[in-house]
Amino acid sequence: MRLILLGPPGAGKGTQAKMLEEKFGIPQISTGDILRKAVGNDTPLGKKAKAYMGDGQLVPDEIVIELIKEKIKEDDCACGFILDGFPRTIVQAEKLSETLEEMKLDIDAVIDFEVDLNELTVRLTGRRSCLDCGAMFHDETRPPRKRGVCDHCGHELYQRPDDNKETILKRLEVYDNETAPLKDYYRKRGNLKTLEGRGSVDEIFSQVCALVS
Ligand code: AMP
Repeated sequence: MRLILLGPPGAGKGTQAKMLEEKFGIPQISTGDILRKAVGNDTPLGKKAKAYMGDGQLVPDEIVIELIKEKIKEDDCACGFILDGFPRTIVQAEKLSETLEEMKLDIDAVIDFEVDLNELTVRLTGRRSCLDCGAMFHDETRPPRKRGVCDHCGHELYQRPDDNKETILKRLEVYDNETAPLKDYYRKRGNLKTLEGRGSVDEIFSQVCALVS
């Protein structure tokens, strides 16, 4: 099964992607996590991406496209994958379609997470992430068992530098301008499925599973 999770920052894509990964045994591919790791390790990719990410801007298309092209050809993606945070522009979506066509594959479903804008700001400002495994928590709605420590791998949790009010507003603006048009792109291709992102994490997961089964 090959899925795309589409939605603004803070919509819950990462959390749901991890749950899907566990249930279906197919890997989550989060361009945000890959880029953050590269920035953390100060690799050449990280050096290129850092300033864009800090400003809430998108990293240039050619960088993320190359990254994804390599990733989806890896062995662990043979039975499928969950794209989380990619594509984010029409150019990225077109290149993905081209690459999949070359591989004689297609996307099974694009799940569009619809969440109210005010709700997104609250979610993002309280969010805590694990730099090691990418698991996500929230100060109020999803606290870890031990404050500041990841439930899954025991690593320290941190607040993403781009989860501050000013950068959040920029990221939401970028989403509206660059990424929201993908809804039409995939609607026309017939595989867009819209999810009302309300309810508990488990309730939303049931809705996601119903959409993909
Ligand atoms: P995320 O963790 O998905 O919210 O991504 C964090 C940041 O990484 C974004 O604000 C962008 O700067 C960058 N990024 C992640 N995915 C992409 C993408 N598909 N295209 C361009 N930039 C991306």
